[in-house]
Amino acid sequence: MSDVAPLSDAGSVEIRRSARRRRTVSAYRDGDRIVVLVPARLSKAEERRLVTEMVERVTSREAVLARRGPRASDGALAERSERLSREHLGSLAQPTSVRWVANMEHRWGSCTPADGTIRLSHRLQSMPAWVIDYVLVHELSHLLEPGHGPEFWDLVARYPRTERARGFLEGVAVAAQLPGLSDCVPSPAESSPGSSSPEGPSPDGDSPGGLLF
Ligand SMILES: [Zn+2]
Repeated sequence: MSDVAPLSDAGSVEIRRSARRRRTVSAYRDGDRIVVLVPARLSKAEERRLVTEMVERVTSREAVLARRGPRASDGALAERSERLSREHLGSLAQPTSVRWVANMEHRWGSCTPADGTIRLSHRLQSMPAWVIDYVLVHELSHLLEPGHGPEFWDLVARYPRTERARGFLEGVAVAAQLPGLSDCVPSPAESSPGSSSPEGPSPDGDSPGGLLF
């Protein structure tokens, strides 16, 4: 059984009731409507309350993403890193995933060469595109050279604005008085066990293999 009701500014809402569904409620955007899945056995009042809540959840999530702009999506980041790998690293750096994370306290970016994952601090989102590109090239280069030796910096230097971007990031760190951001760090050899699990409690941020500048 399903109802479609108009929704003032976000299209319409379709309520799908399922007898099999017992407690869980979920909602998602489908074109110009929001579909809310609810258990069939709810009272009218309870259903109305849950539907309102779920619609608000979907629309506020959309508002946050819209404010951040298209550049803030993981998809856009992956495309960008593919382009940078092609232009500067002969497409040799092929990450398995590239995504934004909000829990990175001491790095601008991090890379786990063992599983090919790259993470960027969401704090970079407000910085110029060429700075984000530098951090991406830096992390991509770690897929080819895990440490910070001369071979590594030769790769990074293929990105023409490397020095300028490093200076920019140093300036940001100084201005923000973020001492942890003032140096480039650990090699993957110093990894602690479990540091590569991207969904773990905190590893994203301070997982080794990460770097900056
Ligand atoms: Zn590094």
